[in-house]
Amino acid sequence: MKCTRCRAGAEVKLRAHNSAFCRPCFLFFFRRRVARAIEHEKMFDRGSRVLVAVSGGKDSLALWDVLREEGYQTVGFHLALGISGYSERSRARTEAFAAQHGLELHVRSLADESLAIPDVVRATRRPACSACGTIKRHYFDAAALEHGCDVIATGHNLDDEAARLLGNVLHWQTEYLARQAPVMQPRHEKFVRKVKPLYLTSEYETATYAFMRGIDYVVEECPNAVGASQLTYKAVLDRLEDVSPGTKVGFVRDFVARARKAFAAQDEADRPEGVGTCGGCGMPSFGTLCSFCSLRAEVDRKLAKRAEPAPAAATGG
Ligand code: AMP
Ligand code: ZN
Repeated sequence: MKCTRCRAGAEVKLRAHNSAFCRPCFLFFFRRRVARAIEHEKMFDRGSRVLVAVSGGKDSLALWDVLREEGYQTVGFHLALGISGYSERSRARTEAFAAQHGLELHVRSLADESLAIPDVVRATRRPACSACGTIKRHYFDAAALEHGCDVIATGHNLDDEAARLLGNVLHWQTEYLARQAPVMQPRHEKFVRKVKPLYLTSEYETATYAFMRGIDYVVEECPNAVGASQLTYKAVLDRLEDVSPGTKVGFVRDFVARARKAFAAQDEADRPEGVGTCGGCGMPSFGTLCSFCSLRAEVDRKLAKRAEPAPAAATGG
């Protein structure tokens, strides 16, 4: 197997791209694909301050590495979720990467806010991933505002996007389809846009990049993230990809290029007029409280109720 670019011995084969690469050419290929996605989708430029949401996993660390190599201005942001063991390891990998490359990193800890994910799940009985998603969105938005960033970049990769797209199509989640894009424009001046520069690079490609660059990342998945349906969609897409290489990239790229607009137009028409301000945190909100503050109020209420003395104990003495 020879490298498609330089004819040296190849180390990786990418069937979806009908190519094989040696190590230097793969690194070149990967960085160029990410840079092209950023430019083509007008995600940001070298004058932008980019808040990179870094979990400590391979995708967000690979993203941070590419952005810094390409000369973009980055500010790392890590949210410590308070999931014992897993969260400490994730934070440690993120901090080690930042220190190694002298990068600006801000860490916020949910335990300090009495919102550690296991406590939130116990108090509200909401599914962990849904509560965690609401909380992450809030802190990413707040961090961009606090650190003067123009844009938030996450490490969502092609496999994530393809699986999400398949799930949204199977259930005709038209609202979600409207908002599944590599660039999401903000709905309020206090928010910044959100971008996914890795949306066309597969999990295998990101893992290969991280490995070749010697990036030390958390290999384990979040213990809560055994989202059975998401894993099933990924397995189905892997089978399709195996039979017909390039299926995933075509599915996502052509959805974005051709189909999403139809859903987005309807979504805008259905949306209530005007965004207000959340009475809790002052961030933009459609209701009197944003979804994060409603969640926080629910947690506080449940915890207060638990702290009340039981009736039998109260009458004793
Ligand atoms: P996930 O939803 O866990 O697949 O993560 C998707 C992306 O969200 C990651 O690639 C990161 O960019 C970001 N992210 C997830 N968890 C965290 C975290 N704890 N702190 C900062 N960013 C995160
Ligand atoms: Zn709020």
